[in-house]
Amino acid sequence: MEQKGNILLVEDEENMHETLKLNLEIEGYSITSAYNGTEGLKAVQNEYFDLIIMDIMLPEIDGITITENIRLQHNDVPILILSARSTGADKVLGLKKGADDYLTKPFNLEELLLRVEKLIRKNKQLQDKETIGEIYVFGKNKIDFKAQQAATWDGKQVELSKKEAMLLKLLLENKNEVVTREKILQMVWGYNVYPTTRTIDNFILNFRKYFEEDSRNPKHFHSVRGVGYKYVE
Ligand code: CA
Repeated sequence: MEQKGNILLVEDEENMHETLKLNLEIEGYSITSAYNGTEGLKAVQNEYFDLIIMDIMLPEIDGITITENIRLQHNDVPILILSARSTGADKVLGLKKGADDYLTKPFNLEELLLRVEKLIRKNKQLQDKETIGEIYVFGKNKIDFKAQQAATWDGKQVELSKKEAMLLKLLLENKNEVVTREKILQMVWGYNVYPTTRTIDNFILNFRKYFEEDSRNPKHFHSVRGVGYKYVE
């Protein structure tokens, strides 16, 4: 079946959890389950998701605190919160803290599925928005993505591996913006395959060696500790 998206479901009520999981799986989504706030937060730090469906009232850490935490980590994953209260106060707080959408329990399953689809589609469009061409020039460096080669500032010719070219492209397409580790893992390594942070660091070290005139004082390739990496022209 076609992979429609990777969803984290954070919901402590077992019947509700199983019903949602089953229906989302039937729709073709891949579901990671968390039954309390700690599990939910841990999953976000270890895996890339296209969407998080999150209950507000959860054991250990509530859904609003998790949402706030995710945004503080510069993670833009779409978040749909499920609110049990009818007052509306929770929903507003959730949206203020960075959730993208909400549903109040009890909700219509079909409506949930439609919102899920819409949020994931919107996010994918945003991610695809900027693309760079086959040739990219910065400083005295020139990259040919089609040939997977680079001519560097010191007159060397460098053969790029497929992953190097992919990571380079991702960083260049998001210039002046931090690309999170989660996004790099998803775009370059694919779903659910996790190299260590050091693996990505080694790629960045290579980029500095190739493209920086002074690799110890990089101008172009920066690490943002605990968050991700940034390319600056
Ligand atoms: Ca709950």
